[in-house]
Amino acid sequence: MDDCIFCKIINKKISAEIEYENDRLIAFKDINAQAPVHILIIPKIHISTLNDLLPEHTNLMGELIQVSKDIAKLKGIEKNGFRIGFNCNSDAGQTVYHIHLHLLGGRVFSWPPG
Ligand code: 5GP
Ligand code: ZN
Repeated sequence: MDDCIFCKIINKKISAEIEYENDRLIAFKDINAQAPVHILIIPKIHISTLNDLLPEHTNLMGELIQVSKDIAKLKGIEKNGFRIGFNCNSDAGQTVYHIHLHLLGGRVFSWPPG
């Protein structure tokens, strides 16, 4: 999608600190990190929100979660703990409309989120 900032990161039209990449997804550091580790894991196909998920996306979404666990281990936060989450639409604070899984760790988080 031409006007999507995350599609531009996928296409290397704008730079990002990439942590992991394969044919289906890419993971990069959040530009405005909310924790010592804050990485966004996104599919390479443009899906705007969780509301747009189709049954055919099931394996892809599962892979995002598998990769989040692998990156947490690479970053050494798997034992103390980490949080993953999707924001969907405005009430949840979604600002970029290309689905992304936040991986946060390296500090203690409160629950529920604000
Ligand atoms: P949302 O609020 O939509 O769940 O999360 C969007 C995230 O994308 C925010 O945490 C924001 O800091 C991050 N972000 C927005 N634009 C860019 C960018 O150009 N590069 C990177 N690396 N992160 C971005
Ligand atoms: Zn996109």
